[in-house]
Amino acid sequence: MSEQLDMIYRKMLERTAEALKANNMLPYIAETKEEALSLVKGSIAEGATVSCGGSVTLAETGIMELLRSGKYNFLDREGKTPEEVQKIYREAFSADVYLTSSNAVTENGELYNVDGNSNRVAAICFGPASVIVVVGRNKVVRTLDDAILRVKRMAAPANAARLGCETYCLSKGECMALASGASGMTEGCRSKARICCSYVVTAQQRIKDRIKVILVNEDIGF
Ligand code: SF4
Repeated sequence: MSEQLDMIYRKMLERTAEALKANNMLPYIAETKEEALSLVKGSIAEGATVSCGGSVTLAETGIMELLRSGKYNFLDREGKTPEEVQKIYREAFSADVYLTSSNAVTENGELYNVDGNSNRVAAICFGPASVIVVVGRNKVVRTLDDAILRVKRMAAPANAARLGCETYCLSKGECMALASGASGMTEGCRSKARICCSYVVTAQQRIKDRIKVILVNEDIGF
């Protein structure tokens, strides 16, 4: 990637950071995944109870490895039975820190997330004392309409593939709503495996700086 493009992306991240700040979220800009990892490391006290949403971004930045390093009381869902996973979903509400990515972030300072189980969007909205959101520059969009489109064209089909969900978007590569010309946010398939169930916009917050957003000047996740 050229220096010129990096500079343009940097300006976009700076605009987004200002808007997030105006919405009472605490933004950081990291130039690299490594810098993002180090920001996360510096934001969590050793021994803290931590939880996270399922996220390729957290894996690609090395954050999942950090969470499993033994430094924290990590509520880890890996290898657990469905009943244990449900228990962890609920315990996550009392975690000190919750880590996640976001399906999109707008330049107006909004987070946009679409969730199937809805545990992730629930924890972003309420519960954990601190929420750290790590987002690659590829997920920053201009408006909420762009965010809605991004999920239907990219995030949901890719996540359906990651999770092995037999949905229309897995077979066709985009949401059924786009193929049928339906334009509403919640339009989509009627599949039992549908991963788009709760649509959450996080705008101005009452609790200042509870949500920290690390914007990374690299493409990460989807
Ligand atoms: S509504 Fe269905 S087809 Fe559309 S993105 Fe979600 S899972 Fe895929």
